[in-house]
Amino acid sequence: MEQSIENKLIIADKAFSEWKKVPFEERQKLIAKAAEILKANSEKFGRIITTEMNKPISESIAEVEKCALMMNYYADAENILKPEKVESEFAYSEVHFVPKGVILGVMPWNFPFWQVLRFAVPAILAGNTIVLKHASICFGSGNAIENVLLEAGFPEGVFQNLEVGHKVVKEILEHDVVKGVSLTGSGKAGGEVASIAGLNIKKSLLELGGSDAFIIFDDADQEEAAKAGVKSRLQNCGQTCTAAKRFIIDEKIEGDFLPKFIEEYKKYEIGDPLDKETKLAGMARADLADELEAQFNRALENGAEIIIPLERISDNEFKPGLIRVQKGNPVLKEELFGPLGMIMIAKNDEEALEIANDIPFGLSNSVWTKDKARQLFFIENLESGTVNINRMTSSDPRFPFGGSKASGYGTELSLIALKEFVTSKTIVGN
Ligand code: NDP
Repeated sequence: MEQSIENKLIIADKAFSEWKKVPFEERQKLIAKAAEILKANSEKFGRIITTEMNKPISESIAEVEKCALMMNYYADAENILKPEKVESEFAYSEVHFVPKGVILGVMPWNFPFWQVLRFAVPAILAGNTIVLKHASICFGSGNAIENVLLEAGFPEGVFQNLEVGHKVVKEILEHDVVKGVSLTGSGKAGGEVASIAGLNIKKSLLELGGSDAFIIFDDADQEEAAKAGVKSRLQNCGQTCTAAKRFIIDEKIEGDFLPKFIEEYKKYEIGDPLDKETKLAGMARADLADELEAQFNRALENGAEIIIPLERISDNEFKPGLIRVQKGNPVLKEELFGPLGMIMIAKNDEEALEIANDIPFGLSNSVWTKDKARQLFFIENLESGTVNINRMTSSDPRFPFGGSKASGYGTELSLIALKEFVTSKTIVGN
């Protein structure tokens, strides 16, 4: 490892020895200040995001504002890390929540501010310090976040952006001062990083891909479902882990719903990412577009039918596509991380559930029905970290966020995230 990177790890460790003593409420004040800076400069930071990964500028600004909202949630959060008394026969009988130390974040490019801050803010509030290995196309975002936190008054070393490629992650994670890792990204990267963490007995948290179902029944508000479904699939050019990727339609409304859905889909046209009116722009990298095109072709070779062709119009731009997929198509085992949706038809509730669960992932699903009994059936039986009823998935700082099955493990957001990178230390005796 380069000396400059090792030096940063040492700085993070030194910072930890002081930061862990700072009271929770003092940490919260700094988080509130950082939120204020983000909000006041959302256009400036939005431009950095768009320039790095092509997201439409209106979405980039909204991302920065959502970070501020999340940080205000933690700035006002109840301190659940205070020592807890336990009823027992002992004089000492309590649990302390002790921060672990330096935590590594390995973060992706699809939400360059949100993914980083969603992980870092609760970890820092719990008393840890952070080193970030951001996606290689997002070092500007990483540096901007570091500067916001410094400007807000966080001590040097509490959060540092390391400009390194992924090959260095192993050495960083193996370093003695690093005590855990949180990774958001592909299953491949997640598996490799978690295995290094495991071999070194270090805590890991994984937020990986998904292939969420969006299930629409005959008693749903079809207009609203069509709008929300298309937005969920195509915002951020389809590069969202919790995007609706498989639309499972009740066969009774196929003829009614599908035309509405297609009409809505066609409203998303490629534009200049820096224009505030643009709803769809290019993908983040040309190799990701190559991969999506290859998946589209493989899906067709395995029997998928074209509803709207996926048309490549430049290195990284597509006119969004829609395909009808039958059970058994191998593409259903993959994540389609771009503007390509899948339509599936279900005969009844049981079949809709079976299709929804028949994938390796378990991130978040969305069910559209007004029938309470049906809502409960899906709430109880869908295998995913989140179930939305009559709404598209959109994470909210107040609620836990995380996946099941191959979508990962561990919890981000909500008060629960405060306890991800702490050790529960038992104090007992007389
Ligand atoms: P990766 O998972 O490869 O990248 C995410 C982060 O992990 C980046 O910081 C990357 O660094 C790092 N990384 C990659 N490989 C390793 C490794 N072996 N060890 C340690 N760190 C690693 O995503 P891609 O950018 O290649 O996208 C590929 C696919 O991943 C997408 O098409 C999508 O399916 C999925 N993905 C899912 C995301 C989600 O939110 N669930 C987010 C991003 C991608 P570097 O940039 O230097 O390679």
